Amino acid sequence: MNIHYFNNCASTRVDDEMMEIINQYNTQYYYNPGTLGGNSAVVNKQMQDSRLLLANTIGADKQEIVFTSGGTESNNIAILGTTKGKKGNAIITMCEHSSAYYTTLSLEDKGIEVRIAKCDGEGHIDYEHYLSLVDDNTVLAVMMHANNETGALNDIKYLAHAVKAINSKTIVFSDGVQAVGKVAVNVKNLGVDLYSMSGHKLHTTKGIGALYVKKGTKISSLVYGGGHEGGIRSGTEFVPGIITMGKAVSNAVANIDRLEPIYVSYRQQVIDCVHCIGGEYITCKTNYLPCVISLALEGIKSEVLVNMLEMDGVMIGTSSGCSAKTSKAGRVYTHIGMADKYITGVLRISFSKFTTQQDIDILCQKLAQYVPQLRQTIKGK
Ligand code: PLP
Repeated sequence: MNIHYFNNCASTRVDDEMMEIINQYNTQYYYNPGTLGGNSAVVNKQMQDSRLLLANTIGADKQEIVFTSGGTESNNIAILGTTKGKKGNAIITMCEHSSAYYTTLSLEDKGIEVRIAKCDGEGHIDYEHYLSLVDDNTVLAVMMHANNETGALNDIKYLAHAVKAINSKTIVFSDGVQAVGKVAVNVKNLGVDLYSMSGHKLHTTKGIGALYVKKGTKISSLVYGGGHEGGIRSGTEFVPGIITMGKAVSNAVANIDRLEPIYVSYRQQVIDCVHCIGGEYITCKTNYLPCVISLALEGIKSEVLVNMLEMDGVMIGTSSGCSAKTSKAGRVYTHIGMADKYITGVLRISFSKFTTQQDIDILCQKLAQYVPQLRQTIKGK
C-alpha cells in the first residue's frame, strides 16, 4: 500500500543521503572520536565540519553549538543548565512543548518562581502579558519560536529584545525545533542566548539535536563525564547523527524559498477541501508555518478519522506527536479556548519536501469521503 504521510511535525523520512552517511559511520568509520589515532581524527574532522556548517547556517560561531540527543534534551539543558543554583523567577508560555513547559515548571522545586504567559486564540504568545511578567529578578525567559500544535509563528526577535530591554541579565531561550529549517533563523539577529534544534524534524535520524549557546552564557552541565561538547553534554558522541545534523539543517534552509509557495498551495487546498465538507475550524489563520495546518471538524473525533484514513495509507496527526497518547493532549487547545465541540477532534496535517500533489489529492478525496460518512453514522445513533 502506498503511504501518504502528513505527520512531518512529528517526524520526517530520513534522506537517502543521510542514511548513507549514517551507515558509513556505523560500519566503516565507527571509531570513537575521543581516542587517539588517525582514524579517530578523520571522524573528529567530519564532526567539526558539521558543527561549522550548522553554526554558519544559523548565524552562530562553531564554539556555540552543542550537539545533544534531540529537542527534548536541548530544552532540558537550556532550562536546567542556565538556572542551576539561581533564585528569582522564570517565564514560560502556556503553549510550550512539554519538554520546555514541564522542565520550566520543575524549577519551582528549586525555589524559582515560575510565571506563565498567556497565548492568543491561535497559539501565539501574548507579548504584552509575557513582558508584564518580566522584572529585575527574571533569570530565564523561555519562548518557543513556532508552535508544534497550531503552527503559530512567534516574533521572537521582538520578544527577546523587549525582554532584554527590561532586564539585560535575563537569559533568553527559544525552542526552535519546529521553526529552524522552515523559516530563516539567525540567532544573533533574533537576540536569543540559547536556541534548540532537532534532527528528526529535518530528514535525519531520531536521536540527534543541537543547542546554540551564546558565547559567555553561564551554563552548567546536567550530566558529568568526559567533558564532551565543551563540558556541557558529556557522553561519547552520536557520530553518525552529528555528521548529518549540519547537512540536515543547511539543506532545509536552502530549500525554504522553493518549498514555501508549494506549502502555501497545499495548505490552501486542504482548507478549501474542508470548507467544502463544512463544519471546519482552522486553528491558526495568521502568522503561521505554511507547512502545517491544525484544524478540527465538527462532530468528528480525531482518533476515529485518523484510524480510518490510516487504513487507506493516509497518515495524519492529531494535536502533537509527543502528547498524542497522553491525557495532556489538550493543554494548549484548552488554553487557547478551543470550543468543546472541536477539542476532541483536532487534526494536525504537516507537509515536507517529500509531500506530493498526489498525496494532497488523495488526502482531500478521503476526507470528502469519510467525514460525511462518519457524521451520518453519528446522526443515525
Ligand atoms: N520542541 C518542539 C516545539 C517540538 O515540536 C518537539 C518535538 O515534537 C520537541 C521540542 C522535542 O524534540 P525531540 O523529539 O527531538 O526530543
